[in-house]
Amino acid sequence: MMLDYIVVGLGLAGTAFCETLRKHNKRFVVFNDSSQGASMVAGGLSNPVILKRFTLAWQASTLIPVANSFYHELEHTLGKKLISSLPVYRRFASVAEQNLWFEAADKQELKNYLSPTLVRNSNKGLIAPYDFGNVLHASRLDTALTLKSYITLLEREGLLVSDSFDHAHLEQNSSHVTYGSMTAKQIVFTEGFGLQQNPFFNYLPMQGSKGEYLIIKCLKLKEKNAIKSSVFVIPLGNDLYKIGANYDRDTSNNLPTDNTKIELIRKLNALLDCPYEVVGHQAGIRPTVKDRKPLVGQHPEYDRLFVLNGFGSHGIMIGPWAADQLFSSIEKGNDLNLEIDIKRYISDYSKA
Ligand SMILES: Cc1cc2nc3c(=O)[nH]c(=O)nc-3n(C[C@H](O)[C@H](O)[C@H](O)COP(=O)(O)OP(=O)(O)OC[C@H]3O[C@@H](n4cnc5c(N)ncnc54)[C@H](O)[C@@H]3O)c2cc1C
Repeated sequence: MMLDYIVVGLGLAGTAFCETLRKHNKRFVVFNDSSQGASMVAGGLSNPVILKRFTLAWQASTLIPVANSFYHELEHTLGKKLISSLPVYRRFASVAEQNLWFEAADKQELKNYLSPTLVRNSNKGLIAPYDFGNVLHASRLDTALTLKSYITLLEREGLLVSDSFDHAHLEQNSSHVTYGSMTAKQIVFTEGFGLQQNPFFNYLPMQGSKGEYLIIKCLKLKEKNAIKSSVFVIPLGNDLYKIGANYDRDTSNNLPTDNTKIELIRKLNALLDCPYEVVGHQAGIRPTVKDRKPLVGQHPEYDRLFVLNGFGSHGIMIGPWAADQLFSSIEKGNDLNLEIDIKRYISDYSKA
């Protein structure tokens, strides 16, 4: 039987693309191994504002409604609660920073996302003498639960191959691709940072940024909102919190390190005024790109090969919209958004 698609990788990118295929009754199979795991360890925030500079995240106003409706539908399909709104409180370090916030909140594009009212600190477990600014329309997706539940669904439907895809065994001709006993009209690579091992698309300028989280148990904190100071504190329920993440250019492996643990604890101690215990430590590599935009589109030479990648630190927001962009371009011939189309790197391909 001819499949419509082979998909390689089942993180947030693969999930968004596979679910788009399911909704359109396309025949597909997805390969997934555990070589990468950015989506599994992600903090899960869908946060419209870059809180270092008080600027709007790329395309946030377009991406958020698409993402929200996608994950709500997925909740329905999987019968699980996956996404909840979660206010993000930005801790101010000074009066000057409060003023920068008020200036930003006055800007047209940010009005909808930055509350102009200071939130007084009423949590004795937090050191925050200059209080907080409240980011509106933020939410948290439980990415690990989403992926595990989606894997279960695909396994039940016989659509998942839990194995590494070996690019050397892909055969191509003008009308289809063949991999072992499988034949498909096209193949879409959603491998996250694993793109670097993909001989067809590794000319693309993926840089990668490693990030680590600590999980702490803190009985006295009782905080329901996400707190952003020099680290994020993300409540997980049951007195557990995710603390992180850092940005590290050393992408030689995706293992937790002692140095980052020490750095995160130092930052956390400047924010928390209550005892806690570190109960977990995770790491992953964000698929970041030179120009910080997604990598989406058709291979410059092999027209049955496609890529959906480069979601950087915003995979939750970007995934559903970018998956729809790629699907519509393949199935309906729609033009891709020029900022995400890998055509912008065509000169890197000719050089490779
Ligand atoms: C510490 C950290 C915190 C983050 N926090 C947030 C956050 O709060 N909000 C947010 O929106 N984003 C966050 N991100 C970013 C987000 O995780 C990524 O943008 C997103 O997960 C990328 O998804 P992906 O599917 O492209 O990659 P991945 O999640 O890495 O998935 C790729 C999948 O493909 C598989 N694969 C690769 N090669 C092969 C092969 N040859 N054969 C078979 N399978 C293969 C991998 O094993 C993996 O399962 C964070 C990332 C990190 C590391």
